[in-house]
Amino acid sequence: MAARQPLIAGNWKMNGLTADGVALAHAVAVGAGGLSCGFVICPPATLLAPVSTVLKGSVVGLGGQDCHAAVKGAHTGDISAAMLADTGCSHVILGHSERRTDHGETDAGVKAKAQAALAAGLTVIVCVGESEADRDAGRTLDVVGTQVKGSLPDGATGANTVIAYEPVWAIGTGRTPTPAQIQEVHGHLRSVVAGTLGRAAADTMRLLYGGSMKPGNAAEILALADVDGGLIGGASLVAEDFLAIGKSCP
Ligand code: PEP
Repeated sequence: MAARQPLIAGNWKMNGLTADGVALAHAVAVGAGGLSCGFVICPPATLLAPVSTVLKGSVVGLGGQDCHAAVKGAHTGDISAAMLADTGCSHVILGHSERRTDHGETDAGVKAKAQAALAAGLTVIVCVGESEADRDAGRTLDVVGTQVKGSLPDGATGANTVIAYEPVWAIGTGRTPTPAQIQEVHGHLRSVVAGTLGRAAADTMRLLYGGSMKPGNAAEILALADVDGGLIGGASLVAEDFLAIGKSCP
């Protein structure tokens, strides 16, 4: 099986003005040097350009939090994948549960965005995850499997696509699934990828866990066989915590 370099991605969401965003990015860039995992930070769109300047020459990649499926045109308020790449992005988060909820994003819509992102040379981080009602009803594996099948772009490989498993009920709540529950979902996702894209893609594709990951629980989660890193929300806003999660990678 091919080795998968762990990836720690920070989703700043709608947080940060220029001064604090630049300071946070600088602290992450300095602290990430020499660590063995990969790092990406995903600031809000207004901070992409200044953060891109800060990250130049560092090991930390830059990502957007969304992109439009169209290449350009009459889409007020939206950003194309090419615009993200032009600003220095290497990655884009797509299908985050907050976008699925706040903006009615569907699997098909996420897939269209992901295809646009691949065409622009970006690596996509496609988010999936069950609601608490889904989990309580025993539907978790079905829900996340359906989301992966419907949201991954055509041409997805381990090199251009990352999946983030983020139980909706664990995001920003301080609650997490047990390690056994996380491994069960990640093992299932890897078998879904194997069934749809083939064994090579399944062996090389990084599967991140996201949802209340913190320095205190990261080592246990990141040690799981099919967890290849984390998508971090709240803890990515504190450089020390974000870097501590990176240091917990096996
Ligand atoms: C997220 O929204 O991607 C996330 C994982 O948030 P948090 O770490 O704050 O739960």
